Amino acid sequence: MSITTVGLDADDTLWHNETIFRLTHARFVDLLADHGDEATIEARLAETEQRNLRLYGYGIKGFTLSMIETAMELTNGEAPPHVVREILAAGREMLAHPVETLPGVDGVVAELSEKYRLVLITKGDLLDQERKLAASGLGDLFSAVEIVSEKDRATYERVFTRHGTGPAEAVMAGNSMKSDVLPAIAAGAFGVHIPYHVTWAHELADAPVDEPRYTSLSSIAELKDAIDSWYIE
Ligand SMILES: [Mg+2]
Repeated sequence: MSITTVGLDADDTLWHNETIFRLTHARFVDLLADHGDEATIEARLAETEQRNLRLYGYGIKGFTLSMIETAMELTNGEAPPHVVREILAAGREMLAHPVETLPGVDGVVAELSEKYRLVLITKGDLLDQERKLAASGLGDLFSAVEIVSEKDRATYERVFTRHGTGPAEAVMAGNSMKSDVLPAIAAGAFGVHIPYHVTWAHELADAPVDEPRYTSLSSIAELKDAIDSWYIE
């Protein structure tokens, strides 16, 4: 069994993302402080996001609409115009936020690209993900980019068949156990979990037990050694 293809997640695997969401959450809580405490506001926002995921998909634009909807609910439909303006401004700032690659990313992605076919596999808004990839300077190292609406078993089967030699000869690495690791292993690929220091509640899941095609790393800098250890000429 050889490995030909490596799938990499983008947000919180190659560059910071969730920390930017958390900053906006804090701003949102401040903005609505007269209408609830932090726990209440966060719980309502999480409910709204969850309800809207299948309509809006993942990404900042959907998140912005969910913030407006939550503000309307918390104010009984009477959110003042400045609140809506502030939320829209926060969303735009997130979409323009500078891209900062995580430690070790630039080196390991360059190394991996010399031996394996790299595919970026990410959810989120199309324009935003394309912008971040361009700004990261990593774009030329990837053979393909797949911005998908959901990361499930069928997604990995399709992507690794289209861009590689099938899931059995592919590795998927990312910070989300639920979206990057478990469905890739279910598709027959290897799965590498590289946790980020904060995880969106929606992406939490338990690690697989007794799964030889799974490993967890503390840094993406260790990724090439991990993949090479599975690689047989
Ligand atoms: Mg991620």
